[in-house]
Amino acid sequence: MTDTVTTSPAPGTVPQVPELHIADAPADPAADTTRLLNLTSALRSEAPRVLGFPGNLDFDFSDLSPALAVLTNNVGDPTSGDASGVHTKAYEQAVVRFLAQTADARPDDIYGYVTSGGSEGILFGLATARRHLPHAKVYASDQAHYSVARAAGLLGLPLVTVPSNDEGALDPEALKVASFVHRRVRPHGGRGPGAIVVATIGTTMRGAYDDVTELRKQAAAAGDVYVHADAASGGLIAAHAPSAPRWNFAHGTDSISISGHKIIGAPVPCGVVLARKDLVDAPVIASEYTKASARTLGCSRSGLAVLLLWSALRRQGHTGLRAHILRCLETAQYAVDQLTRAGAHPTRTTDSLTVCFERPADWIVRKWHLACEGPTAHLITVGHVTRSALDELCRDLRQP
Ligand SMILES: *Cc1c(COP(=O)(O)O)cnc(C)c1O
Repeated sequence: MTDTVTTSPAPGTVPQVPELHIADAPADPAADTTRLLNLTSALRSEAPRVLGFPGNLDFDFSDLSPALAVLTNNVGDPTSGDASGVHTKAYEQAVVRFLAQTADARPDDIYGYVTSGGSEGILFGLATARRHLPHAKVYASDQAHYSVARAAGLLGLPLVTVPSNDEGALDPEALKVASFVHRRVRPHGGRGPGAIVVATIGTTMRGAYDDVTELRKQAAAAGDVYVHADAASGGLIAAHAPSAPRWNFAHGTDSISISGHKIIGAPVPCGVVLARKDLVDAPVIASEYTKASARTLGCSRSGLAVLLLWSALRRQGHTGLRAHILRCLETAQYAVDQLTRAGAHPTRTTDSLTVCFERPADWIVRKWHLACEGPTAHLITVGHVTRSALDELCRDLRQP
C-alpha cells in the first residue's frame, strides 16, 4: 500500500529526507542551503529534549564562522613546526596546558594533543602503555566503553574483563585476583608481566568513577602498572566534583583521554589525549616534506576542532568550568528528586550527571531521546538540560 499523506513527524524524530544523490550536473546552491538550514533548525529545536546522551548541546560558535572559510591543519605534534604554516598549534598548546592543569599536572610534564574523539585517545594511551609493558594484559571493567576492546584488539593486547561493584565501578579486589593469576602464569623473571589498567571515569550507563589510586595498588600483583583513564565523559566532572574521585595524574594516572563534544560541547566530535611526557617517545621529524614531528596517531588533524575547544574553554576558564559542573550536578539532583516524586525509582552514583530510572513507554523514550539498557533508562544532565525539561518529562511519566 502506498501512503501519500504527509504527517508531521512524531516528537523525537528529526524529519526524514528522501535518499540523497549527488548528480552529474551541479545543483542549485540556494535550494541546498535552504534544505540544510531546515535540517539544522530541526536539530536545534529537538536539542532541549535530548536527555539521554552525554553531548552538551548548549553552544553557539557562529562567531567563529570565518574559520569555515580557511583550512587549518595541525599536522603532527602541537609543539612541532610545520612546513605548511596553516595551523592553529598555538591554540592547541593552550588547550592541552589548560586540561593538564585540570588533571592536576604541571603542563610542562605533559604531552598531549587534540584528537578526533575519546576513542582515539584510548588507542593512543594503550599504544603508549604497550611500549612500556609489551607482555602485559589490559584490564578493564565490564562497564568499560567498547572502544577499549576495540583499541586492545587493534594493538594485539589481550583484554581481561573485570567485574564491577554495586556502584558500577571496577572492583579493586577482583582486579587484584585477576592480576595475581597472570603474574603466576607469566612470571617474567620474577617481576610479572605487568598490568595495563583502563580506569573508566564516568561509565557510559551509570556514570560511575573507577578509583585510579586503588586500582594501581591492586594491579601491582602482576608487576609494573600503567593506568590509562578513559575520562571521555566524566573527567571534567571528576575534576570539580565535591567528592573528588581519584582520576588524575596526581592520583597515579599515566594517560587520560577526554571527549571534547561531551561535557564541553562542540559542533564536531573531538577530544584531547594527555600523557606523562616521560612515557612518550622523544620527538623526531617524521618527514622532510611536513617538517613536523608526529607522535600523534593521525598526520593531518583538525585545526578547526582546536579553535572550537580553545574558544569554549577560554569563555569559561577554570572558575567558569567549575561553576558549570556544579550547576550540572545540582540539575542531576533535581532530576532525582522529581523522578522520585513521579514514581520512576531513580538511582544516581555519587557526583554523577547520570540518573538511571525505570524504562518508560516507548513514546517517552523517543520523545526525550533516552538511552536504555534492558529495564533501565538514563538521562545525563549536561549543559543544555533544563529543570523545565525535566518537569515536562516527569509530567509525561505520570500519564496513565
Ligand atoms: C563517549 C565515550 C567514549 C568514546 O568517545 P568518543 O569521543 O565517542 O570517541 C569512550 N569512553 C567513554 C566512557 C565514553 O563515554
